[in-house]
Amino acid sequence: EVRTRFAPSPTGELHLGSLRSALYNYLFARSQGGKFLLRIEDTDQTRTVPGAVDRLLHTLDTMGLQPDEGPGVGGPYGPYTQSERTALYRENVQRLLDSGAAYRCYCTRQRLQLLRRQALGRGEKPRYDNRCRHLSEEKRNMLEERGVSHVVRLKLENTDTPFTDLVYGEVTFDVAAQEGDPVLMKADHFPTYHLANVVDDHLMRVTHVLRGVEWQVSTPKHIALYRALGWDPPQFAHLPLVTNPDGTKLSKRHGDASVESHLQRGVLPEALLNYVCLAGGGFKELDQTALTSARELTEKFELSRVNTSSCRLDPERLRRLNLLALRRRHQDSQHREKMCDRVRQLVTERFAESSGPPLAPHVLSDAYIDRVLRWSLDNARIEYLSDLVSRDFSYLWAVPERLRDDQLPVEDPAGTLSVLLDRLSGRPEDSLTKDELVPLFRAVAGERRIKFSALMKLLRLALSGVEEGPGVAEMIAVLGKEEALQRISTSIA
Ligand code: GLU
Repeated sequence: EVRTRFAPSPTGELHLGSLRSALYNYLFARSQGGKFLLRIEDTDQTRTVPGAVDRLLHTLDTMGLQPDEGPGVGGPYGPYTQSERTALYRENVQRLLDSGAAYRCYCTRQRLQLLRRQALGRGEKPRYDNRCRHLSEEKRNMLEERGVSHVVRLKLENTDTPFTDLVYGEVTFDVAAQEGDPVLMKADHFPTYHLANVVDDHLMRVTHVLRGVEWQVSTPKHIALYRALGWDPPQFAHLPLVTNPDGTKLSKRHGDASVESHLQRGVLPEALLNYVCLAGGGFKELDQTALTSARELTEKFELSRVNTSSCRLDPERLRRLNLLALRRRHQDSQHREKMCDRVRQLVTERFAESSGPPLAPHVLSDAYIDRVLRWSLDNARIEYLSDLVSRDFSYLWAVPERLRDDQLPVEDPAGTLSVLLDRLSGRPEDSLTKDELVPLFRAVAGERRIKFSALMKLLRLALSGVEEGPGVAEMIAVLGKEEALQRISTSIA
């Protein structure tokens, strides 16, 4: 059985790179009929942010990435939080010490810093020189007696042979030569990431490790550690870096890269999932212009198709995807109701706080909001629901202020508008389409001997209070006949 895991450290918000890791682990497990696990890697207590675990669980849930096993869900190989598993790490470190695969290192911070400075001075990468590997029994006893604290290091050898990465192929990092022996257990007896990660992946029966490529350089250490513990390593697949559009690294601190901030901005989960998929590859025949459901993504997922070059996120694409997601939700009556409620809430908040013109009557009705939604989605006027309360669209909700004379682009505007009112009021509501209205406007402009463009400007002002922008026919269609005529007649009253 395939078992994958998402193993975040609760150091803050979930960012888009981690979301992609979670999603691909989920998709791979699902596509293989396997299990998807969540494990919290919180052994670095100094970096753990209070409340981060709860937010993480909540965000994964919102994104539809519920784990089969994990904190709060349970499962046969728990606990799934590393800080509750410290006895297991100690036990395994002891095994390594007993077999001679690991050793105690008493090097002081000062010595390590000196090594570091010297290496950097020579223009080399800092490397631990493995000195404590060779401590005599006597020396070690003396240090112990003096109560000198120690870390535990793994004897790392022969890392010059490649390992197989299911995405990148044969990969070699000679970390033994470059970095020296890695620390497994810190002086405070907490495990390092490497130790805890390996022990848990083994004990939790993880078969495939899918994680960001930034961890690829650690993999030779992990493989060595599995071997030292007498275990078979799982298979590894690293996922390319997710970057900003300009190729720079997504930062966890960068608010914009967090999943939560996207959701708060009104990005729908399904749009966000598609967004990170498009950036990473890994699918056969994925229609990049459509929104793909989680089920289809699962069916199309193939590990061997994951890209190796870094994937740049293109925010333009996210906007398009979100429009598609809004359209899809709008077709479903339950979602449609929720969307109406959300728009009502946005409108109320927006206009309650503004000192501008008050809300027009009826605009909070389901019927009106739904007409606005239908129009704005069909015509791709919005990408997020909140766009509906942007300045450009305030005419949808608020009655424009009375027109000032110096704004008016024609002579005798009242005369012209009353002719228009006359013509429009005789028409049935459903004939107020662009095709019908434009000839009518042309005729009126001709009769009144004014330019068509001046007439449009006048009407637009009467309907919305703005001089440039929305097409007049479109505005009438969305406002509805009654409201439109009402606005025209009050504007000249
Ligand atoms: N805790 C690591 C992280 O925060 C997990 C890396 C891995 O998947 O091995 O990304």
